[in-house]
Amino acid sequence: MLINADHLTEFAVSIFERLGARREKARETADHLVLSNLKGHDSHGVGMIPNYVGSAQRGGLQVNADAKIIKDKGAVLLVDGSYGFGQVVGRQATDLAIERAKSLGIACVGSRNNHHLGRIGTYAEHCVRAGLISIHFVNVVGHPPFVSLWGGRDKRVQTNPFCCGIPTDGDPVILDMATSAIALGKVRVAGLKGVEVPPGCLFDAEGRPTQDPGVIAEGGSLGPFGGHKGSGLAYICELLGGALAGEWTMQDEKRQGQITVNNMLMFVLDPDLFEGGAGFRAEVEGMQQYARASRPAEGVDHILLPGDPERETMAARYREGIPIDEGSWDALCASALKAGMTQREIDAVQAGLV
Ligand code: NAD
Repeated sequence: MLINADHLTEFAVSIFERLGARREKARETADHLVLSNLKGHDSHGVGMIPNYVGSAQRGGLQVNADAKIIKDKGAVLLVDGSYGFGQVVGRQATDLAIERAKSLGIACVGSRNNHHLGRIGTYAEHCVRAGLISIHFVNVVGHPPFVSLWGGRDKRVQTNPFCCGIPTDGDPVILDMATSAIALGKVRVAGLKGVEVPPGCLFDAEGRPTQDPGVIAEGGSLGPFGGHKGSGLAYICELLGGALAGEWTMQDEKRQGQITVNNMLMFVLDPDLFEGGAGFRAEVEGMQQYARASRPAEGVDHILLPGDPERETMAARYREGIPIDEGSWDALCASALKAGMTQREIDAVQAGLV
């Protein structure tokens, strides 16, 4: 089915409020998740709500927590997300990074103990709107690993996202990616839709390649993207986001529970610092045009730069609605019930969608 973004947002807000979240926190989290759906990343959209409801009810997610500064060294800050909605405490940590980068030129912020941060590109987009460059290294802990490193049969890390945002005079460059071959949520979505994942992403418990999304539940693993190089970047995210910012890496098996926690190290930089910014902006603009002017390869319609696919998908989904498969919708409604909405309220939401 196709759902209008505003209706979906209101439904998500109601679920979070039933969990006890204050309206502005429920709203910010819902907006972030629905924006992920609009941008084509259903793996990080409202499909995460069942996970959040379970986590809040187990005492993991703290729906009204705010980020707190633990250490302030000027350009270097350590911030604790207190297991609040990542979408809220991650944005609060990013606000601090922006404020410091605006006054000092550069900021390095360690943001630890965030409940799932969602789509990391959101924080880079926040920085580029302020005219700043940002780089984000993130690890994922709180539950057992699902991702194997290059050449390994055993799972050792998670989908550890890397992200970089660069402001331009036009559309910003936003490279935002899991370091696993695909995002884990995409395996979940494929499982719910009953479809295979692309080749080269999954391995069974013996390390043999497979396309069956069910393999993760049977001891299989998700592999890294790009062979040993992607595996290396996943590992760097574990060490910078996890060991440095979070002091929490996957090797601590006692802490592999049932919560999704992200630790993030972010660098935020004012491009005006070097030669006043004009030369940088002119080079970026020239490079964007040069890159786009490449003849597309056979079978490719037009060249896409980082951030383009999300913008194209968002334009289409605003017009046409957000596609939600039956399995994801049923899981969302079940989580609404679990959060305390009545069947009648859920039926009313559903009736308002058509
Ligand atoms: P993806 O593979 O769809 O896209 C990765 C990057 O490549 C994006 O910047 C995109 O703009 C660009 N891109 C995609 N197709 C392209 C093309 N044809 N040509 C040029 N550029 C192209 O993304 P993903 O790796 O599946 O990650 C999805 C989302 O999951 C991200 O938003 C990420 O932050 C999020 N994520 C979050 C966590 C977490 O723990 N919070 C963990 C993993 C991933």
